[in-house]
Amino acid sequence: MKLQNSDLFRQQCYLNGKWVTAEKTIEVLNPADNSVLGSVPSFGAEETRGVIEAAKDAYVIWKNLTAKERSDYLRRWFDLIVAHKEDLAYIMTSEQGKPLAEAEGEVLYGASYVEWFAEEAKRVYGDTIPMSQKGKRIVVLKEPVGVCAAITPWNFPSAMITRKAAPALAAGCSIVVKPAAQTPFSALALAELADRAGIPKGVFNVITGPARTIGEEFTSSAIIRKLSFTGSTPVGKKLMAACSNTVKKVSLELGGHAPFIVFDDADIDAAVRDAVASKYRNSGQTCVCTNRFIVQEGVYQRFAEKLTVAVKEQLRVGSGFDKDVNQGPLIDLNAILKVEEQIKDACDKGATLLAGGKRWGESGYFFEPTILMNVTTDMKIAREETFGPVAPIFVFKEESEGVAMANDSEYGLASYFFSQDIARCWRVTEALEYGMVGVNTGILSSEAAPFGGMKESGIGREGSKYGIEEYLEIKYMCLGGL
Ligand code: ADP
Repeated sequence: MKLQNSDLFRQQCYLNGKWVTAEKTIEVLNPADNSVLGSVPSFGAEETRGVIEAAKDAYVIWKNLTAKERSDYLRRWFDLIVAHKEDLAYIMTSEQGKPLAEAEGEVLYGASYVEWFAEEAKRVYGDTIPMSQKGKRIVVLKEPVGVCAAITPWNFPSAMITRKAAPALAAGCSIVVKPAAQTPFSALALAELADRAGIPKGVFNVITGPARTIGEEFTSSAIIRKLSFTGSTPVGKKLMAACSNTVKKVSLELGGHAPFIVFDDADIDAAVRDAVASKYRNSGQTCVCTNRFIVQEGVYQRFAEKLTVAVKEQLRVGSGFDKDVNQGPLIDLNAILKVEEQIKDACDKGATLLAGGKRWGESGYFFEPTILMNVTTDMKIAREETFGPVAPIFVFKEESEGVAMANDSEYGLASYFFSQDIARCWRVTEALEYGMVGVNTGILSSEAAPFGGMKESGIGREGSKYGIEEYLEIKYMCLGGL
């Protein structure tokens, strides 16, 4: 890999402050051309138990540092991530495929959580509460939950780790991270920088290997007190069930099926601009990407036409390393097959193809940015998460019908709508069964905002002042004899 600092490309795991190799390894491929980038250890149950033990020892030391000391470590980690953003972006584009500029954007976005929680570390306040009985006082203490585990996906190889590890470390917890098999190098580069930041051994660990084996050790361990998972809803459900044996706390950030409603009174040009950003970011491979455009009758035709022009003019498919490319490959063949199946199903049932619809290029997992019109709720794409560059457009008449269509999903992560009517903006925001609502914007992620979902999209929030609470226990002290 062509890096300014080649030590950031690590093919070992970072366990208890040491770089460790294994006899058995897993190859990591570049999704743009299927070339082998390198390999990482395939560790199993024994090594996972070992690193959990190490994290337990580290926890005792880490939680007893002052909040200011933990904050300083996080701040140094943040500074190092920012200083190496170009190399980190290069590693990410190599293993994940997203265009280099987008990769650098993710590195900085991920770093913003480290900075944010370096600051929040110092503001973990308790409470005093008036008591109804004489001679006693109620005091609320906040304490770290203990040793944590994180399982993260491939679509945001860096930010999904910092979003969990930074609040955990800020709260005083240690953490063991299992990154996705497709994108371990971004995680290991973060570990290298955590090491350089001087974060004590065992506080931040990265282990790679078969997901199920490591997942079972995490969920069954009595030492791990909290599991934070970002990934698909079926896997999240299994992990939640497995955590019940030890009554572990869980944070789950699962699938989404984001609606994007365009009302007749919307600024259509603004809606189209943000529709492109919301749908085609990371080639449609984010859990907050729009999955359904739900457009009111009066602007349906105009919105579809303008979106088609914008997609054809603005989106360029190709290697993430090419400067003018903004649509990288999908992660693997399965991703392509799923998108193809949804498009075929929709077209068989009467949808009209306005753009794209097929694979792109000779090698790699590229797919053309696609738009489907006349999409109806009996089609697979209306319910199944797409995770690819396909924009289906549905039509509705009345506001209540549009909102009902938007809510007709087991998911409840992100939602968006465009309207210039202030009363409608408030009304529709309250009516949407989603954890996040973008009003006149298609991009809403921020380290300062609570990210998370309702319904089957998950439990808990990441980022913001609420994010650190996920890693804190409340202890009530009743002080008597006064
Ligand atoms: P995606 O569609 O994003 O790959 P997954 O839920 O399959 O969604 O993967 C998200 C993360 O969960 C990855 O790190 C993956 O390795 C891990 N994972 C997948 N299956 C399991 C499992 N049975 N137990 C624990 N972790 C798993």
